Amino acid sequence: MSADKKLPANMQDTAIVQIRPPQMGEAFLLTPGPLTTSYATKHAMLKDWGSWDADFRALTAKMCQSLLALTGDDENILDCVPMQGSGSFSVEAMLAAFVPRDGKVLVLSNGAYGKRIAQTLEYLNRDFSMIDKGDYMPPRGNEVTEAIKADPSISHVVIVHCETSSGILNPVQEIADAVHAMGRKLLVDSMSAFGAVELDYKKVKYVAMVSSANKCIEGVPGFGFIIARKSELKAAKGRSHSLALDVHAQWAHMVKTGQWRFTPPTHVVVAFLESLRAHAVEGGVAGRGARYTKNRDIVVAGLRELGFETLLKDEWLSPIIVTFFCPAHDKFDFNRFYNLMKDKGFIIYPGKLTVADSFRIGCIGQMDEFVMHNVVKAAKQSLNELGVDDASPPDIAIKERLKLY
Ligand SMILES: *Cc1c(COP(=O)(O)O)cnc(C)c1O
Repeated sequence: MSADKKLPANMQDTAIVQIRPPQMGEAFLLTPGPLTTSYATKHAMLKDWGSWDADFRALTAKMCQSLLALTGDDENILDCVPMQGSGSFSVEAMLAAFVPRDGKVLVLSNGAYGKRIAQTLEYLNRDFSMIDKGDYMPPRGNEVTEAIKADPSISHVVIVHCETSSGILNPVQEIADAVHAMGRKLLVDSMSAFGAVELDYKKVKYVAMVSSANKCIEGVPGFGFIIARKSELKAAKGRSHSLALDVHAQWAHMVKTGQWRFTPPTHVVVAFLESLRAHAVEGGVAGRGARYTKNRDIVVAGLRELGFETLLKDEWLSPIIVTFFCPAHDKFDFNRFYNLMKDKGFIIYPGKLTVADSFRIGCIGQMDEFVMHNVVKAAKQSLNELGVDDASPPDIAIKERLKLY
C-alpha cells in the first residue's frame, strides 16, 4: 500500500509547504528525529560550500537570526550558538557552559532524556540532585520549591520541555515560575519541542535552552543550537571541560569572525535554512504546532477507535510524539507489527515504558492529516494481518494510566 495522498487545497498554490510522499519507496518516519524532511530540504544539500567563505558566514548569521526570532525576545537579550554534533552534544555543551564548577543542579527527570542530563552532569563532575518522577509523571512547581528550600545550594534547575521518551509535555511555565520565585536559574532541554510548541522568553525566562536541527524545524541531523542570555554567555568563559564543546569559545569566535570554530556541517546548515524558510511560510511556531496537533489528533482518535489507548490522558499529550500501549491480545507481536507497518510505508518507534509494553508514533516531520489517516488505515490492516481483533491494552496498563490525573 502506498502512502499517497492529495494536497490540501490551501497548500496547492503555495508550492512550498507541500507534503509529498517520500521519494522512491522511502517510508515516512513516525519518529522524533531524524524525521521525514521535504524534498526542498534534501535538495538544498546538493551544493558544496566553503566554510570560510563570506556566503556561508552570511548563512550562519541568517540562521541564528531566524532562530532568535522564534524566541519572543524583543530586547536583544539572547544570542544563538550553533554546535556541531547531535542534540546531546549541545545539551552537554550547555550544562558545561552555564553551570559553574561549584554550582549545583536540580534535575527534573521523567524519562530517558532527564536521566541523560543527570548522566551528563556526572561526566562533567557537576554536583546535582534529582527529582525523579519515573517514566512519565510530570514534575510540579511545588516540588521544585520544596527541593530548593531543603537544599539552598541548588543554583540551577533543568527541565525537559517535551520528554520525548513518553511524549509528555512538561509544565515548563509552572516550573519556570517556581524557579524564579526562588531566585534560581533555569535551563531548558527543548530539543523536541522548540519550533512547534511555544517557549516565549517573555514568559519563561531561561538562562539557556537547547534544540537541534532534526526536530521540529524539520532539518537533517548534524548540529544543535544553544540559545542563551548574552550575559550568561560572557560569564561562561573558561568553564567548559571540553575544547570542542565550549559554548563560550564557539560564541566568541563566531561574534569575531562569523565562522564556526571547527568544520561546520555545511550541507546540514544550508538544508536547515531551507527548513526555516518553510517553517516561516507555514506560519512559524503557531502554524507548525497546529499541523502537528492535527496530526496527533487524527492518529490518537483513529487508533483509539481500533481499541488502542494512549499512556497519557489528553491534557498531557504533546503534539510531538504519542505513546500507545501494546494490545493485550495474545496474537499481537510488536516486531511483526513494526514490520507490517514498515511494509506499508510507515516506520514507527518502540516505547520506553518499564511498566507495560508500548510503542510510539511521532507526529513531527513532513506529514499532514492525509498521511496520518493512512497511518491509521495501515495500523488497522496490520492488526488484521496479525489476527488481532481487539487492540485494547492489558489491565495493568489501564491501572497505570489512572495514576496520572
Ligand atoms: C532528541 C532529543 C535529544 C537529543 O538526542 P540526540 O539523539 O543526541 O540528538 C535530547 N533531548 C530530547 C528531549 C530529545 O528529544
